[in-house]
Amino acid sequence: MFTIQRTHFYFLFLLFCFIFGSGCQHKPSPAESMAEFCQKLPRPEYAQLKRVEYNSEWFELYDVAPGVTAIYEPFQWQEAISYLIQGDDKALLFDTGNGIGDIATVVKALTNKPISVLNSHSHYDHVGGNYAYKNIYGMNTAFTRDRQSGHKNADIATEASKQALCKPLPTGVTEENHIGRSYQVSEFIEDGHIIDLGNRKLQVVHTPGHTPDALVLIDQKHGLMFTGDSYYSGPIWLYAPETDLAQYQKSLEIMIQKSQNIKHLLPAHNTPLADPKLLVKALAGIKSVIAGEAKPVSQGEGMVKYVVDKELPFTFLMRDEELPYKRYKK
Ligand SMILES: [Zn+2]
Repeated sequence: MFTIQRTHFYFLFLLFCFIFGSGCQHKPSPAESMAEFCQKLPRPEYAQLKRVEYNSEWFELYDVAPGVTAIYEPFQWQEAISYLIQGDDKALLFDTGNGIGDIATVVKALTNKPISVLNSHSHYDHVGGNYAYKNIYGMNTAFTRDRQSGHKNADIATEASKQALCKPLPTGVTEENHIGRSYQVSEFIEDGHIIDLGNRKLQVVHTPGHTPDALVLIDQKHGLMFTGDSYYSGPIWLYAPETDLAQYQKSLEIMIQKSQNIKHLLPAHNTPLADPKLLVKALAGIKSVIAGEAKPVSQGEGMVKYVVDKELPFTFLMRDEELPYKRYKK
């Protein structure tokens, strides 16, 4: 667990340097740390899940709920998880990964149904495969519109560099040519929007905080809440310029209210199933952080970590600033 946290942390620095300019001198992770990290993947939780037979250079697939396939990227430090959710008539791809592997080819092998895409939010590790799709839902926010233009190689080359990888890149992808391709949202939606896949209705709940366009997707019938980055087991990143802590707290409250009949959380990183009770712990944790009751552990370079409870599977990674910090204006 500590190795994993550390590995994510090195990435954090890089992203932080990218966002805030040239002030960071931090070196990427030492080789032995990444080697250690890679040795532990896929995480032990995956041994309990039903693996879907599929030969891929990049992805591993798991059946995680009726009609739901987790599309996991276990060989890269983000450990992104996208989900293919199938109804009787249509399918929804919830997130499209970091764009290193060809997710559209995987999805084609899993279903013949018409596919739409919805992203849990518009960070680059969740929209990487959007370019391959025409039907893309997006929250009606300026952030969502802004992010459609993608990212140039200089912004995200690190994601395809040796220090981010546990195995060689898929054929044709290099550190030098990896980019976040642009895409076009075809339908902007609002909080409460229902996506009907045929005998399977998914409700979109706007949960800003991690980003202004963060959302969770609820499948009441099957007791599932797809949480994106609003909850996952691991260090929850709350440091980006677009992160708003007060909104994040409110969104956790909404998620808890909506989780009465929820059996599983399905997060967008690390492991695909989590206990909904953890939302209550996350809310208590962020409240204590905002109230100044939690003790920050310095990570250097202007960053701190809050360990809510050593027994819990998550921590908060934040900027070392007076709280509650607000979103930076662009
Ligand atoms: Zn993410």
